[in-house]
Amino acid sequence: MRPLFPNATDAEWRDWRWQQRNAVRSLAELERFLPLTDDERRGCIETAGIFRLGISPYYLSLIDRDHPFCPVRMQAIPTRAEAEKQPGELRDPLGEDHHRPVRAIVHKYPDRVLLLALDHCSVYCRHCTRRRITSGAEGGISRDELKEAIDYLKAHPEVRDVLISGGDPLLLGTARLDELLTELRAIPHIEIIRIGTRIPVCLPMRVDEELAKVLRRAAPLYVVTHFNHAKEITPDARAACELLVDHGVPVENQAVLMRRLNSSAVAIKDLMQKCLTMRVRPYYLHQMDVAEGLEHLRTPLSKGVEILQSLRGWTSGLAVPHLAVDLPDGGGKVTLQPDYVVERRASETIFRNYRGERYAYPEPRETDCSVPYDEIQYQKFNQPPLPKLRILR
Ligand code: SF4
Repeated sequence: MRPLFPNATDAEWRDWRWQQRNAVRSLAELERFLPLTDDERRGCIETAGIFRLGISPYYLSLIDRDHPFCPVRMQAIPTRAEAEKQPGELRDPLGEDHHRPVRAIVHKYPDRVLLLALDHCSVYCRHCTRRRITSGAEGGISRDELKEAIDYLKAHPEVRDVLISGGDPLLLGTARLDELLTELRAIPHIEIIRIGTRIPVCLPMRVDEELAKVLRRAAPLYVVTHFNHAKEITPDARAACELLVDHGVPVENQAVLMRRLNSSAVAIKDLMQKCLTMRVRPYYLHQMDVAEGLEHLRTPLSKGVEILQSLRGWTSGLAVPHLAVDLPDGGGKVTLQPDYVVERRASETIFRNYRGERYAYPEPRETDCSVPYDEIQYQKFNQPPLPKLRILR
């Protein structure tokens, strides 16, 4: 893996801060390591004022030098198409900016918020749909703004779930991250914390025992990572995920479906199955958002459904993610799946199974589905009482 950086010592290569210091951030640097296509060279020039270029030495080393459709390469090196804004594409495709009561919080859903912890990443993914923030155009998130976010959360008891993202929150120093998680954990109504990160994929050496322990102390905390192709599941990535899981930190994966990068049943099935082998649970397969400069990576909606159909029934249910479309302009997520219903009758429904064979499912005679026990228990505000959280120290 090291031929591109023959002078790096083992200790340097394993040091995530060395990886950050030596990230490739310009066309000139990139050309020293890889032969680029004309399209990539133009892409680097034309996107220079639009989105950052940044590739950790580790992630750069996964690139196939000879193949322009290498999935790692396509996620790391821009092409010209990225500089072309197509009609209908949006700068803020998920409509988040209408829901930012303070700068570091997006509060779009009733019981959960997005906390923007910082604006930089270990690799700037060419498919990033939050690039209005990760381009650095807004400026970073200051300590005061994070304090303002914590105060907002304290004042909003309806929030039970905080997703920390950005930027990549695991680029915060471990002590700073611990401080932030401790502040969140001290807010009694926050039940769960999630961390959205590409660190296990792009900078796995950042995950060490100290970090894993800090994350475990903030339980219930879920790491939501972002592998998009099985080529990214290297021994280092596997070790990072397994270290987290071994320390009691659950890890889930959200992949994005990208045209000609992973848009085949074989690629997605391989990715999902390999995630499970390192105890990372496939969670979402995202349809690409309608974001500026990304039309060349978008797949027709039918492709995702077709891929899902080739997974369901043919492999473990655990390996089948939800196929999600985040609706443009802040409509929220909806999920898609193949339609297995052939006919609905009053007494039965006719399905086709994954092999296309027909089966009848009979309806029961009784249809009262109210739950008498729950009606007593949950009658107050229709909500169960919040469990008391135990903070591990
Ligand atoms: S790591 Fe996430 S936030 Fe950062 S560039 Fe990639 S997709 Fe965007």
